[in-house]
Amino acid sequence: MKIELIPLLQDNYAYLLIDGSGTVAVIDPSEAAPVQDLLESRGLTLDMIINTHHHGDHTGGNAALKKAYGCKVYAPEADAYRISTLDSGLKDGDTLNLGQSSAQVFATPGHTNGHICLYFAEDKALFCGDTLFGLGCGRLFEGTPEQMWESLSKIMALPDDTDIYCGHEYTLENGTFCLDIDPDNTDLQQRMADVRSAREQNLPTIPFTLALEKKTSPFLRAGSAERFAEIRCLRDAV
Ligand code: ZN
Ligand code: FE
Repeated sequence: MKIELIPLLQDNYAYLLIDGSGTVAVIDPSEAAPVQDLLESRGLTLDMIINTHHHGDHTGGNAALKKAYGCKVYAPEADAYRISTLDSGLKDGDTLNLGQSSAQVFATPGHTNGHICLYFAEDKALFCGDTLFGLGCGRLFEGTPEQMWESLSKIMALPDDTDIYCGHEYTLENGTFCLDIDPDNTDLQQRMADVRSAREQNLPTIPFTLALEKKTSPFLRAGSAERFAEIRCLRDAV
């Protein structure tokens, strides 16, 4: 499966997935036009839209893309009432087939109640929307710290060499906060040097591996829901 990053809006990423059999999906299209341009430049059409959660910066392009390509929208079943374009609901434990590739669906409440992540085991790729970010995690708009900690723990249980594809380019901003929390972490210092250099060249910091995130993110290193809640609070206050 081929994965292409599509930068959208100010700091969002959508992802174009092209399966070996020619099936094409887009994850979290906040807007339609850049996705259509990319598809056209590749001579592709769109078969599937997948949303990790209902927020407009992840679903805003659904309607126009659906109209242009007649593709189906797969989104959290729990968000059916607030994603009007939804065709097929996804829930924890589901398998979603994309041509010859397949993804496991995990429920990861915290940022929103309905949030899901998609894990392509064969491709070692996790699409996690606004649950986990580079050196951070989503704000708790609807869930509790305990729920988010449980969701992050599900991600932490995946293989260390999993590539993480998240919904926003927040790594640099997040990392500045992380250095305040964990100033002596040499892995974090090294990562931040790499992140600064990537961003100076306008390059994405995504994907990153789960192994790197576990070594460098105070959110994943919290060790307990209580400590995680404290760190999330401190981050919200910045
Ligand atoms: Zn969101
Ligand atoms: Fe978002």
